Amino acid sequence: MEKGAKIVVTGGAGFIGSHLVDRLVHDQAGEIMVYDNFSRGLESNVKQHVGNPQVQVMQADLLDYPNLEKSCAGAKYIFHLGAQSNVMGSVQDPDSSFRNNVNGTLNVLKAAQYHQVQRVVFTSSREVYGEARSLPVEETHPTGGKNHYGASKAAGEIYCQLFSGELNTPVSILRLANVYGERDYGRVIPLWIGQAVKGENLTVYGGKQEIDFIWIDIVVEALLRAAEYDVVGCPINIGSGQGTSILDLGRRIIEISGSKSKLDILPARSAEVVRFAAHNGRMRSLLNLQPPDDPLYGLYRMMAA
Ligand code: UDP
Repeated sequence: MEKGAKIVVTGGAGFIGSHLVDRLVHDQAGEIMVYDNFSRGLESNVKQHVGNPQVQVMQADLLDYPNLEKSCAGAKYIFHLGAQSNVMGSVQDPDSSFRNNVNGTLNVLKAAQYHQVQRVVFTSSREVYGEARSLPVEETHPTGGKNHYGASKAAGEIYCQLFSGELNTPVSILRLANVYGERDYGRVIPLWIGQAVKGENLTVYGGKQEIDFIWIDIVVEALLRAAEYDVVGCPINIGSGQGTSILDLGRRIIEISGSKSKLDILPARSAEVVRFAAHNGRMRSLLNLQPPDDPLYGLYRMMAA
């Protein structure tokens, strides 16, 4: 990336966004603007940058277009991570999911086009595939989604392709698998670590799930490389390539924590995808990124924290 450039990170106080901001600051990549409405993002995720003139925090909504547009003035790169970011939340409030993920993305793209931003990196999701026909899932698999979240990300991608093609605003599209790491909350790994540490049973919704878990550091690296690679508008899966059984995940968390917890099998939630593993050939060849042998290697670090 061009040194000293202005970089906007939407959702920059969120789980993935704040790790990206840390890395950009560490690399002295440029002048960074964290654009976040703090609905799910946390001030504590960016407090380490308070007083750093390299980092500006803008508390604002993606739906506030005039503010977003002004914030993007002079930007060379926009990492667009701000979103309504979980499946069950989108089912409970489909309108909010649509507003944040479709209108919000359109606003980012309009602002990027207006200011002739050099590259937008859009974080899409494996949820765009819905329940896949077979595993591992290639990027050419039909999209549509099994829930409102998947549909909203698929719609966001279509706008990215429009802007990237006809409207001359280069966009990289990453379809993230299930990202895990420190600072996340409310998702299966942090929830289960919390339950195991307290000796409570781990709540398993269904138990047939196979999930492709990918450690946060690899995702941050993918985002940075995506800002530079020269194929735009073409989605790339970011995943380990392996489907981990959710029951194995539970057993592993119990084992590492030395807990006496058991698995408590509850009814499956129908909106959720049951099986996913990413085909990661593009990630390896276009981004030159190798996934780890053990997708859960980051668990040890999370549990030591
Ligand atoms: N899950 C579970 N127990 C929990 C939380 C989640 O069994 O206490 C399962 C959930 O049913 C889903 C998977 O874990 O199949 C991933 O859900 P999560 O909420 O972590 O991520 P997302 O829905 O955003 O993919």
